[in-house]
Amino acid sequence: MGYGDFAMSNSVFGAKALQTEAAAYAWVEARIWPEGPICPHCGGFERISKMRGKSTRHGVYKCYQCRKQFTVKVGTAFEDSHVPMHLWLQAMFLLCSSKKGISSNQLHRTLGVTLKTAWFMSHRIREAMCTVGVEPMGGAGEVVEADETFFGRLEGQPKGKGGYAHKNTVLTLVERGGSARSFHVEGVRIADLAPVVRANVSRDSALMTDEGTWYAALGTEFARHETVHHAAKEYVRGEAHTNTAEGYFSVFKRGMIGVYQYCKEKHLHRYLAEFDFRYSNRAKLGVDDVSRTERALKGIVGKRLTYRTTHH
Ligand SMILES: [Zn+2]
Repeated sequence: MGYGDFAMSNSVFGAKALQTEAAAYAWVEARIWPEGPICPHCGGFERISKMRGKSTRHGVYKCYQCRKQFTVKVGTAFEDSHVPMHLWLQAMFLLCSSKKGISSNQLHRTLGVTLKTAWFMSHRIREAMCTVGVEPMGGAGEVVEADETFFGRLEGQPKGKGGYAHKNTVLTLVERGGSARSFHVEGVRIADLAPVVRANVSRDSALMTDEGTWYAALGTEFARHETVHHAAKEYVRGEAHTNTAEGYFSVFKRGMIGVYQYCKEKHLHRYLAEFDFRYSNRAKLGVDDVSRTERALKGIVGKRLTYRTTHH
C-alpha cells in the first residue's frame, strides 16, 4: 500500500484509499506508523496483533503488553468520529486540492454525509491545517511582505461607521517564494501588528510593507525595510512591493466570497489557516495534491508520537 494507490489511478477518486475502508486505513496507517503500529495506551510496539474476523471493525489492533485494543484513530482528530475513514480522506483531498476551498454544502452533497457532519469534518481538517510553525519566516537574503486587508463584517459594529471600522482586519506575512501566515488581528495599530511581525519574521529578513506609519519604527528592527506608497499610486519600486501578499488576499477573498460566503468572526482564523496551508504547500513549491493531503494528515495526528522509541 503506497503512494501509488493515489497517484497511479487515472481519476484520483478511483483510488482505493478513497473508496474502501480497508485501503483507507492502510493508507493512513502507513503514514502515521511508518515502522508499524504503536499502542497509544502504553507506547508499546512489540506484541501487537491485528484483530481479524468478520465482526471486527477495520484497523483494530490488540496490544498484548497492556491488553488494550486501539485503532490508528486513537489520539487523533478522527478519534471521536464515526465517519468512515475513506470519507475523511475524500474530504481532506477535496479541501487540499481546491484552490479556493470547498463549502460544507458541497462536501455534504459529494460525500453523502449530513450537512452538520460535513461542517464538523471541514472544521476538523482546517484545524489540522493550522501548522503555523515556530521557525521564523524569512532570514538573511530573504524577503517577507507584511500587509493587511479588511474582510467581512465585525459583529456588533454598525455598518457605515466609515473606513474599515466595521470590518475584520487580517494581517498576512508572506515569504517571497515561500510560505504565508495570516492572523485575524484587532486593528491596524502598531500594538496589533508589531507583536505578530516580531514573533514570526526573522530580523535578518528584508521587510516589505506599504506606507503605513505603524511600520516605520518596526521596520528599523529588520535587516532592511522598504515601503511602497499606495496612497501616491505607487505599487512597485524595484524589489519594494507587496504584490505577493496582494495575490494571496485575492485568492482568499475569492474563496471566502465565492465558496464560503459567510463566516463567523470566531471561525475566521481557521479559514485563514486553510488558505495559508494551501499557499504554503502549493504546486509551485513542488507539492502536488496528494502530498498536500499527506501533509494535512500529519496535522490530524498532531503532536502524537509517531515513531517507535527505544526507551521502553
Ligand atoms: Zn499497550
